[in-house]
Amino acid sequence: MITLFVYNQADSRVEIHPSDGELPYVNNSRLTAQQLTGKELTAVAWTDKRLLEAYDALCGLWGGPIRVNHAFCRFRSGMHKAQSAHYAGLAMDLGRGMNISDLNRLRVLAVKSGDWSYVEPAHIAPTWVHVELQPGKKRYSYPSLSAGDSSAYCFVLQDALKAMGYDLAFTGSIDAATLRALKKFQHEFNIPVSGRADRITWRALFQTR
Ligand SMILES: [Zn+2]
Repeated sequence: MITLFVYNQADSRVEIHPSDGELPYVNNSRLTAQQLTGKELTAVAWTDKRLLEAYDALCGLWGGPIRVNHAFCRFRSGMHKAQSAHYAGLAMDLGRGMNISDLNRLRVLAVKSGDWSYVEPAHIAPTWVHVELQPGKKRYSYPSLSAGDSSAYCFVLQDALKAMGYDLAFTGSIDAATLRALKKFQHEFNIPVSGRADRITWRALFQTR
């Protein structure tokens, strides 16, 4: 059983979807939380409504369902480089098992759709198609977060802090408990107690993994 949180930018709210049903915003295929998490064993996962919509649009261009290898993985599973968009549920790996020409067609469509800020070239990922929404100004750099912010990145911050033993709940926003934990972390790790998840803080969080 996976609880999937979907951040909806339109109203800055987090929608909660249980794993059994099909996910919303996907009409040209069917998608479940299990597919989004792939082989990752986890009771919680998160993504963004924009990702589901972008996937749906891509299936529309493709002309049918596109196999999802996985989209989401937990920060501590360490499958990806630091600050991967997969930890925020903002990237998908698609089409494993397709032949080369289908994979190429899928990459071209993903670029053409204009929905994805990055489509990994074939020479980096030859046997699947990695697509992602912009994590920050640079690839692999998370945005700075402060009190009141909400986004899929807030879940990554909460996941990292929870893993270190700080007491908070997954809410997808920098609420009072998250802010308290963040400041405690900054204090304990000798970084400026700014109450912001800034570049220094993200780096420190990833180094303590
Ligand atoms: Zn990927």
